[in-house]
Amino acid sequence: MAAASSKHTNNQGDAYSAQPLIRPAWPPISRSAAERLQEVYLSGHWSFNSPAEQAFARDFAASHGARHGVFMANGTATLECALRAYGIGKGDEVIVPALTWPATAMAVHYVGATPVFVDIEHDTLCLDPSRVADAITPRTAAIMPVHIYGGMADLERLLALAAKHGLKVIEDCAHMHGAKWAGRGAGTWGGIGSFSFQQSKTMASGEGGICITNDDDLADRIYRAKHIGYADGSVQGAASNGPPSDLLCHNFRSTAFQAVLLSDQLTGLGSRIEQYNSNRDLIESYIRDIPGIRIQSRGRLADPQGYYALAFIFDEEPMAAFDLQVIHQAISREGLLLSKTYGPVYRHVLYTLPPNQYRISDGGCPVADIVAGTRTLTLPHQWLMADQHIIRSI
Ligand SMILES: *Cc1c(COP(=O)(O)O)cnc(C)c1O
Repeated sequence: MAAASSKHTNNQGDAYSAQPLIRPAWPPISRSAAERLQEVYLSGHWSFNSPAEQAFARDFAASHGARHGVFMANGTATLECALRAYGIGKGDEVIVPALTWPATAMAVHYVGATPVFVDIEHDTLCLDPSRVADAITPRTAAIMPVHIYGGMADLERLLALAAKHGLKVIEDCAHMHGAKWAGRGAGTWGGIGSFSFQQSKTMASGEGGICITNDDDLADRIYRAKHIGYADGSVQGAASNGPPSDLLCHNFRSTAFQAVLLSDQLTGLGSRIEQYNSNRDLIESYIRDIPGIRIQSRGRLADPQGYYALAFIFDEEPMAAFDLQVIHQAISREGLLLSKTYGPVYRHVLYTLPPNQYRISDGGCPVADIVAGTRTLTLPHQWLMADQHIIRSI
């Protein structure tokens, strides 16, 4: 097991006191959402399976190709409920990529299972299927691929492995709103897909999250897990039947207000994702001739690719010779505030599980440690909304 020798923080370039040239508007604010918010406020249907929540959950799920959507408080609760729906817990191991937000691993811990960190691919920065194969043990219950920044995990190869070993697949799509893999929506390849609507995400309601699935029984278990055991469609105080006795249920509900904001954003999601894809291509065409910089590869069959951020990797000569801090500082001085990546979870400053409560797969995670942890900077997705003259200045 690799020792966690240093702690990783992902502060932005503010330390270099640069003023950003342009600050794209995020989160998105619209008059139509403000009007709908007022209507919902006056209606008094604020929570408990409100009409606004039902409409959003159904429309978001459908837009990704899923029959069911279960809307919740955040994109960590969704991961926990997905694991609970599958009955994963004590004694189980769950494979997660070393590069992700700590929530992916913490959700595994919350249900009493053990997160097992596996390295990422050099080009997509997503879970490496060939390393997953080596990390599977008789205790492995599930794989949780994360589609990170502007890349998608290789779903076909991961699903083939899962089928061979009888494992569940939960896709962490917190960065992947509106993406498709081989024509099918992100989050519908695994048995359950989990999305976050936290303020920085590609769809944002301050806080929020959703699980999508095409499995009726899983949908029922996820719904009950987030709603103190109530079944979908129940009226407050009138539960006619309880949850299965093996299912631990919480109150992870969200409110109608978040649902209204998200329904408003869902309308324009497809065209925004298209714009992100074409601006990404434009940026790549400008930097193609600069030696030593590469952009994180899209997923092999991602079309459109979703974007939470555009990741620039400085691991080839001549850039490889410069400390990332120097590069970060130079770019900040030009007025562009990039961020460091999350770095490997087990080095993240917010991650404090003792080493006996997780495992790093044999051989460690050198790509997550070195390429993602020390050679990569990210540009938040909202910059990809900018028009072409702004993109040119980036
Ligand atoms: C944001 C995020 C989450 C958690 O979502 P919250 O809504 O912040 O709880 C999970 N996984 C990844 C990869 C994320 O970026």
